[in-house]
Amino acid sequence: MKIDLRSDTVTKPTKEMLEAMMSTEVGDDVYKEDPTVNALEQRIAMMFGKEEALFFPSGSMANQAAIKLHTQPGEQLIADQYAHVYNYEGGGVSFNSGVSCKLIKGHRGMITASQVEESINPPDFYHSPLTSLVCVENTTNKGGGACYDFEEIKRIKNVCDQHNLGYHLDGARLWNALVTKEESAKQYGEIFDTISVCLSKGLGAPVGSVLIGDSTIMKQAIRVRKILGGGMRQVGYLAAAGLYAIENNISRLSEDHRRAREIGKVLEKLSFVKKVEPIDTNIIIFTIDGKEEEFIAQMASKNIHFYGMGQGKLRFVTHLDYTQKRHEYFLELLMTFKLNKAVHTT
Ligand SMILES: *Cc1c(COP(=O)(O)O)cnc(C)c1O
Repeated sequence: MKIDLRSDTVTKPTKEMLEAMMSTEVGDDVYKEDPTVNALEQRIAMMFGKEEALFFPSGSMANQAAIKLHTQPGEQLIADQYAHVYNYEGGGVSFNSGVSCKLIKGHRGMITASQVEESINPPDFYHSPLTSLVCVENTTNKGGGACYDFEEIKRIKNVCDQHNLGYHLDGARLWNALVTKEESAKQYGEIFDTISVCLSKGLGAPVGSVLIGDSTIMKQAIRVRKILGGGMRQVGYLAAAGLYAIENNISRLSEDHRRAREIGKVLEKLSFVKKVEPIDTNIIIFTIDGKEEEFIAQMASKNIHFYGMGQGKLRFVTHLDYTQKRHEYFLELLMTFKLNKAVHTT
């Protein structure tokens, strides 16, 4: 049995999702004539209590468009050192917007209001780049699926308001936070100027992200999307997958979280596992006593796949295609796993 725990992006559409895709109505979305895309955008805007939402081919493009909407070239944004916008979007912040990043050493990818306040360049000190945007991530990716305390999110909002800064949420995995913390999309809509969400991670759609905001800021979003090459035509087939995912795959994320916790409990009992990071959602980060490459290779030989993150860290991510059957098989295998002696050097 193949177990793929590399990422929650590896899921493939189910038969039901494919049927929803095949039977939907489409039109030219560059002319805003695709009824399914329009329905998805309206639905998501409503969920968040915002005026507008726009469908994007990827989360990176949605984040990059948001950064462009909030900034001018030469300015600076504030983010955690682990931020996806800084680490995993190909340098897009500087490429697309001519913006630099002030990176904060946060806790598991999360920053505090006082750290943000300390990182703002005085606006009349013309030697420094002008600070114009704060980006936070919930849940954090490199931070191991950690969820913000909503009170901290509000405190950061106050700092943004006092200093006239835009506030963007990279909510690629916001759904996981909503389910775990029993929060609502609306409460996030009330705080942030812009929010990006992914349909192709835990929700299991093959493609798609959505950028959400009020009409003043979103007015230019469609132009920026066009510039980035994200104007798509009969893309309702993909939006239909997104609609299906929103209707069917949000509350079940709690199963991914339970399985992640159960994997964590087994890892903690293994003699060669040094440390398991706290597990808030569907990401498990741990370190082992021994060579990570060898552990990865030995597991791969048993058809178990996952990534090393560098600096001795390893990561499992649970998802829609990691079923209960696979989970039970994997736990059994993990419990009896012996890290090769020759490799288990101290
Ligand atoms: C996956 C992810 C994105 C978007 O990634 P794409 O692969 O471009 O869709 C953005 N932010 C975070 C935190 C992510 O995990």
